[in-house]
Amino acid sequence: MIFENPRITGVMVNYYFHCKRQLWLFANQITMEHSSELVLIGKILSDAFYKNRDRDINIDNMIMIDWFDFDGGIVHEVKKSDSFEEGHIWQVKYYIYYLKKKGMNAKGKINYPKLRREIYVELGVGDEEKIVELLNEIVEIVRGEIPPVKTNRVECKGCSYFEFCWS
Ligand code: SF4
Repeated sequence: MIFENPRITGVMVNYYFHCKRQLWLFANQITMEHSSELVLIGKILSDAFYKNRDRDINIDNMIMIDWFDFDGGIVHEVKKSDSFEEGHIWQVKYYIYYLKKKGMNAKGKINYPKLRREIYVELGVGDEEKIVELLNEIVEIVRGEIPPVKTNRVECKGCSYFEFCWS
């Protein structure tokens, strides 16, 4: 399948929407996540709010689901962000799509503990075609010899690659 070589994770789908350069850096193993204070805050928030759930479900070493509600068939994704982003939605749509390809019907929910809000996610008409398109674009980007150009600084706020890109 297209998402196997290179391996396309849900995080990569999210980065595709946030910044193509971020996607390239991450996919090419230039990772700064461990040094990002925001990532640490996200982990703390997630642990505090959802500590009693079965967490971090790894499927095929491809997608990592924060937790799965087996009763409702719902994929949960926890976002530390205090804003809603298109990439969050497509990350979860990708999880639903991936599970569907494995013969499992699921829905999705994005949990924003800082906002105390939840968003429901489902595959709509045309979404599967759009996912195939964006997976193809992701493959093209990550196979590029050099990283895409920087985005503007608004996009960079809170990015774990900020110092890498701007210092
Ligand atoms: S700092 Fe900005 S340009 Fe660099 S990867 Fe992050 S979002 Fe993209």
